[in-house]
Amino acid sequence: MTKTISILGSTGSIGRQTLDVADLLGLRVAAMAADRNVDRMEDQCRKYRPQLAVMMNEQAAQELKVRLADINTKVASGLNGLMEAASLQEADTVVTAVSGMVGLRPTLAAIGEKKRIALANKETLVCAGELVMGEARRCGAEIIPVDSEHSAIFQCLIGCKDRAEIKRLILTCSGGPFFGFDRERLACVTKADALRHPNWKMGQKITVDCATLMNKGLEVIEAMRLYDLPLSKVTAIIHRQSVVHSLVEFCDGAVMAQLGVPDMRLPIQLAMTYPERKGSPAAALDLIGCGSLDFKPIDEENFPCFRLAKKSAEMGGTACAAMNAANEAAVALFLQEKIGFYDISDAVQAAMEAPVILNPNLEQILEADHAARELVQKMF
Ligand code: NDP
Ligand code: MG
Repeated sequence: MTKTISILGSTGSIGRQTLDVADLLGLRVAAMAADRNVDRMEDQCRKYRPQLAVMMNEQAAQELKVRLADINTKVASGLNGLMEAASLQEADTVVTAVSGMVGLRPTLAAIGEKKRIALANKETLVCAGELVMGEARRCGAEIIPVDSEHSAIFQCLIGCKDRAEIKRLILTCSGGPFFGFDRERLACVTKADALRHPNWKMGQKITVDCATLMNKGLEVIEAMRLYDLPLSKVTAIIHRQSVVHSLVEFCDGAVMAQLGVPDMRLPIQLAMTYPERKGSPAAALDLIGCGSLDFKPIDEENFPCFRLAKKSAEMGGTACAAMNAANEAAVALFLQEKIGFYDISDAVQAAMEAPVILNPNLEQILEADHAARELVQKMF
């Protein structure tokens, strides 16, 4: 079992819940990294006394250094700092919980040091999944998913020795705050509407992705990469209650599902304790109290992001990186209230028109990412 962790994105939603789990399991924290939330990082450093604290933002790092002058935590900044936090010798597990593809190079650094990766940062697998999984195999680093759907699949696959036995993965999707909306209503939704997720409390970027259903598109690609399956074997359905976290259908017709209350501390904890399980403060699942469970198809017409993400997976190569980067840039603009709901999918679609490089290396992935972001900035 994990004894010492480093957390990339410690001040965020997953990062804070990881610290709750660390408290419970008595884990030590070697390094913590974030972008610019100095207040929260200072509090976390005072409580956990990590060896290293990193702020991506240079000014924030300077400020943190001043504030932590009285304790023994080294402060670093920028991408190099993030890479240092990811590779620190003392940690056996690195929790990748930054938001966005900025997590890619630190994740590769952690893999290079054979750390267990508790992977929440799905954008990394979306834009460079083949590269990341290839490196993990080459270095012998374990990747344990934290994303609830992928953790569910991971659990359903315990004991499955031959991937050929998998007929398909079925990811469940809450449908987000706009379930059932038609195009006309969707065209007028605001940032505040999008941030009202029915079942989960998460960071702003992923919450908007849940509203556009891009999150499920990203998760389809994440599942393809984690389990080395083609798009035809990864599907998704709406399940409003978020009780069934995902399912695996096997070649003999058996379907395994993992159920539980919607509480991210469960998959985070399993990524630490696997192959063991430990008690959890999460509420027990009350099957009678949760009422009926229902399943519906995804509306791909009115939620084009889901369709576009799958198309990028079909196109392969740098298409996923371009799709993901355009989405990150467009969601940032949506959160600044500069663009509307359908501008996000328009931006993604435009970025996917770029020429695709198959079997890209890291530089080519980063270039595709950069080009897509530039395109989106020019579009609006
Ligand atoms: P939050 O926005 O709550 O937190 C993001 C964290 O990353 C913060 O610590 C933030 O620092 C840091 N960060 C953001 N940008 C940068 C950057 N450029 N460099 C370094 N650090 C950065 O996000 P979530 O915790 O919700 O999500 C994190 C990841 O986990 C995402 O990839 C998301 O898709 C995935 N995930 C989240 C789930 C959830 O329930 N929240 C569920 C499944 C997956 P600061 O606070 O300083 O800005
Ligand atoms: Mg998820």
